[in-house]
Amino acid sequence: MGITVTGWRNVRGSGTRRCNCGSWAKHWEKYSNQPWPSHCSVEGCDGPPLLGAHVRNSLVLGHKIVPMCQPCNALVGAFTLRGGLALVNANQSETCG
Ligand SMILES: [Zn+2]
Ligand SMILES: [Zn+2]
Repeated sequence: MGITVTGWRNVRGSGTRRCNCGSWAKHWEKYSNQPWPSHCSVEGCDGPPLLGAHVRNSLVLGHKIVPMCQPCNALVGAFTLRGGLALVNANQSETCG
């Protein structure tokens, strides 16, 4: 049983949050143990992931970081994430804080 891939949303106003890793993209690489992907994490999007985006889901506790392209990071509605994707904990007190 994996984490749900449907019903994810961008966390509004998270663009000003800073991370001790230098960027949220570096944060994702450090805690996912995966190489930075060539495609955005949103299902059906082939855009280049340029940032580590804060996402949330009503079924999941806390915020997560996923690689995302800029247009998808501006989505207001819910979206589906690719299966098998690493969702990294955004809570710095449990990671790099
Ligand atoms: Zn970090
Ligand atoms: Zn995208």
